[in-house]
Amino acid sequence: MAAGAGLCDAEAVRILTNEAADCIADLIKFRVPFDTLDGEIALTREAAHSVPRVMHAGGDATGEHIELALSRQVRSTPIRVLENCLASDILVQNDRVVGVRALDGHTGSVEEYGCRFLILATGGAGKLFKYTTNSDVVTGDGIALAFEAGAEITDIEFFQFHPTVLRLPGVAPFLISEAVRGEGGILRNAEGRRFMPDYAAEAELATRDVVARSIVYEMKKTGSDRVFLDVTHLPPRLVTTRFPHIYRFCLDHGLDITRGLIPVAPAAHYLLGGVKVNSGGETNISGLFAAGETACAEVHGANRLASNSLLESIVFGRRVVQRTETAASPGNGQPSTGACAYSLPEREPLATAPPLNLSGLQSLMWDKVGIVRSGEGLQEAAGILDSWHGLLSEPSDRLSYELNNLVLCGRLMTEAALLRKESRGAHFRTDFPRTSPEWQRHIVFRKDVSS
Ligand SMILES: Cc1cc2nc3c(=O)[nH]c(=O)nc-3n(C[C@H](O)[C@H](O)[C@H](O)COP(=O)(O)OP(=O)(O)OC[C@H]3O[C@@H](n4cnc5c(N)ncnc54)[C@H](O)[C@@H]3O)c2cc1C
Repeated sequence: MAAGAGLCDAEAVRILTNEAADCIADLIKFRVPFDTLDGEIALTREAAHSVPRVMHAGGDATGEHIELALSRQVRSTPIRVLENCLASDILVQNDRVVGVRALDGHTGSVEEYGCRFLILATGGAGKLFKYTTNSDVVTGDGIALAFEAGAEITDIEFFQFHPTVLRLPGVAPFLISEAVRGEGGILRNAEGRRFMPDYAAEAELATRDVVARSIVYEMKKTGSDRVFLDVTHLPPRLVTTRFPHIYRFCLDHGLDITRGLIPVAPAAHYLLGGVKVNSGGETNISGLFAAGETACAEVHGANRLASNSLLESIVFGRRVVQRTETAASPGNGQPSTGACAYSLPEREPLATAPPLNLSGLQSLMWDKVGIVRSGEGLQEAAGILDSWHGLLSEPSDRLSYELNNLVLCGRLMTEAALLRKESRGAHFRTDFPRTSPEWQRHIVFRKDVSS
């Protein structure tokens, strides 16, 4: 609740914490090999945690082990899995979802699938940014599809940047887990000086937004594009056993982290907002559900506490399944009303906009809608994005579908960031550097809000 900076929904947080243990027990039943110490589950600590409470598997390969265990589970059932198949439109009739259209990546044909319920679990939108920890498939598809179908999108101005991502020339961004700082790693600027105590009492364990911004300021001060994470004072055995994946990855790129400093910089990591859902994962469209990073149950508020997203996925994912099993005729979340519901504004067309391509979009978002924002930069980005949106061509393949979806997500994020005239959690504006009580509310976008 503290990290969420006043925007967590108390009931959603209660559900997350109350149902976590049961859901984790399910994962153990599905044979996720969580690490143990002396026969007990091993726990670690990450930013802003009061006590060690993060379970992990394979040292630093938790997500991979959960994913492998769950896909093994799916493969053992009659569920039909369509690989390389891209959902491209949600089909809605009389405010009820009736199906989905999808592009078959093998044949190039577009097929329609009817359904009673549709569950979006398409992940976040990290590919909006030039530097990101996210994989190439994280292109905001679910959010764009849901918005086009009439669903509500909320909190999309809040995007979390991970403070410590490996910055080595020619090496793709690679996450240096926060648990490295949790185990005692120290941040030093390009001059070798420890700087986090200058910015926060919690020093390296301050919340992610504080650490990411502090790094940006230090990089600016020292004229460098990186800072350094130092674990050379920790026992080498702790580093190699607790972080085998990170140790091996760096070693493969010529860096022994038990002896040398790790060059790091922030990168886009996690989308806090998304398709607005209630505590059963339902959207405002009957039969349409969302779970995982694409959904927003207002659990994280303005700033996710480290390690809570996998937990959110399993807790609220299970609630979606329970809801679809019990709902003979599902109810739907009510549409938002009042001052917080908006449609996308119409802007004056720009006389000239740069040509649209993925890297141009990612640079624009990184420079103008990134870690430190300003009204002026956001206005500029909003104008360009609006022009691009107006000129989008009919998509024909995966990349063009994804680019179109990213442009729409970029517009939603930029317009929400412009509306929110304050700084709160992951959203920081130089022209409104303080948190304003007036803005302790959620921004919701819907296609058909009458102004
Ligand atoms: C490097 C890294 C480390 C992380 N570490 C942690 C951690 O330690 N703890 C934690 O809690 N969280 C962590 N996170 C965050 C967490 O991993 C994600 O929030 C979580 O995996 C999101 O799961 P998801 O199932 O919602 O989406 P994803 O895992 O992104 O899966 C989305 C799936 O949907 C598919 N898809 C997308 N669009 C379409 C479409 N149009 N049609 C069909 N399929 C589509 C994608 O191909 C993908 O398979 C980390 C994230 C990263 C990137």
